[in-house]
Amino acid sequence: MKKLYIETVGCQMNVLDSELVVASLRKRGYELTDSTCDADTILFNTCSVRQHAEDKIYSALGRLKNAKQSDPHKIIGVLGCMAQKDQRLIFQRAPYVDLVVGPGQLHQVPQLIEQIAAGRGPQLEVSLGRADGSRAAIERSHESFDPLRDPSMRPTPYQAYVRIMIGCDKFCTYCIVPSVRGPEQSRPPQEILAESRQLAGEGCKEIILLGQTVNSYRHGQSRLSDLLYQLHDIEGLERIKFVTNYPKDMTDDLLGAVRDLPKCTKYLHVPAQSGSNRMLERMKRGYTVEDYREMMARIRHWLPNAAVTSDFIVGFCGETDKDFELTCELVREQRFKNSFIFKYSERPGTKGAERYPDDVPEPVKKNRNNDLLEIQNAISEEDNQPFLGRDVEVLVEGPSKTGAKQDAADPQVQLTGRTLCDRIVVFEGNRRQIGQVLPITVYDANAHTLFGHVVTQHAGPELFTLGA
Ligand code: SAM
Ligand code: SF4
Repeated sequence: MKKLYIETVGCQMNVLDSELVVASLRKRGYELTDSTCDADTILFNTCSVRQHAEDKIYSALGRLKNAKQSDPHKIIGVLGCMAQKDQRLIFQRAPYVDLVVGPGQLHQVPQLIEQIAAGRGPQLEVSLGRADGSRAAIERSHESFDPLRDPSMRPTPYQAYVRIMIGCDKFCTYCIVPSVRGPEQSRPPQEILAESRQLAGEGCKEIILLGQTVNSYRHGQSRLSDLLYQLHDIEGLERIKFVTNYPKDMTDDLLGAVRDLPKCTKYLHVPAQSGSNRMLERMKRGYTVEDYREMMARIRHWLPNAAVTSDFIVGFCGETDKDFELTCELVREQRFKNSFIFKYSERPGTKGAERYPDDVPEPVKKNRNNDLLEIQNAISEEDNQPFLGRDVEVLVEGPSKTGAKQDAADPQVQLTGRTLCDRIVVFEGNRRQIGQVLPITVYDANAHTLFGHVVTQHAGPELFTLGA
């Protein structure tokens, strides 16, 4: 048995990629370890969306220098977006790295590791850059990595990510994703359906469809709404979610499908990024704040009880106090269930970095981040209050953070799960309830979590008379 250590940073797409890489290595006799010391192979699946994520990986690599010196047979690899972005630079900055593999080449990881072990030296496999050939050639060089799934590799057996698209063609000026993940390509519906049927057959209750702009999905005549109807028929599946949505592609056929299909979670993540038209234009998001408001009005019309979440970038190039105030206004007005807020991080190679100086000072970015978070948290907490005393249906995901530290032999444990509108619910339960959909009565709530207890089936008086 060889030992594999793998660390994953970044989005759900990376979590899925790591799951599949691990599965492919397990087939070749690897088992997982959580320590770099006893690992034969150490892999980092990386993110390039913000500088901070890259810095973390370079420092983690720095810490491995001595380990590699004392055991030259240890194989160290960098996978994913940073591998595609930095390529040979990684070998220059950390010469003891053996393997650099972009997200479009992950299917090659096992063979490349074998080559390194056979003494053939460092291996680099990346896809073509966005200007390095015809569209068809670039598309071919970014392969969707979706081998047969190994159920034992999923974080929980009841939930699974399913990729429906790879890449992105939107080219928002701040974003590195289109260059590292390649052109937007939708997977054929038959493949998605076959994978989802297999997952349901293995006991998976919830699938989460992934795409950078998931609602732009299009394969021939097939749209995301068509796919949802087909997935809905799969026996055993109880919930279907999809992330991340692009505001301009939020069509009525999709909202209608979410409304009419009981298995679709009433939850939409639709990043706005800013409330200022000047910023949206500089970001090249392709919509105005008025368009975004119109889209939100349609969401509320079709799905009055849906939870909507958003992403915002604060401190983008040239953002004034006035621009930022417009973002705050949008958050106050739209009352998102939650917002993910990021300080702008300049990405070399993007149009944003080329065109505009990164001129908002770090302390201003930080303050804006905190201020917006405060506004959002107050809204999240207020909007969770009406749940007090209510019964909600929860798909139980597993032990909560506290539960994970409890004695694994004890069947009683603190559990966590989600409502149909994606609210996190924590409650005391039994391990055998993991994977079930349970009614929970909510008795407390803060901004991010509802606390509850399992609704117990009250025995009626007739039960007592039966025994009499
Ligand atoms: N495709 C999705 C979308 O369009 O919303 C998400 C892609 S990105 C991985 C996730 C979030 O990171 C974005 O919504 C954006 O808010 C943020 N982000 C992307 N590039 C960034 C940058 N250069 N600096 C700060 N935040 C960034
Ligand atoms: Fe990046 Fe924009 Fe594509 Fe999202 S839509 S991945 S933010 S370029």
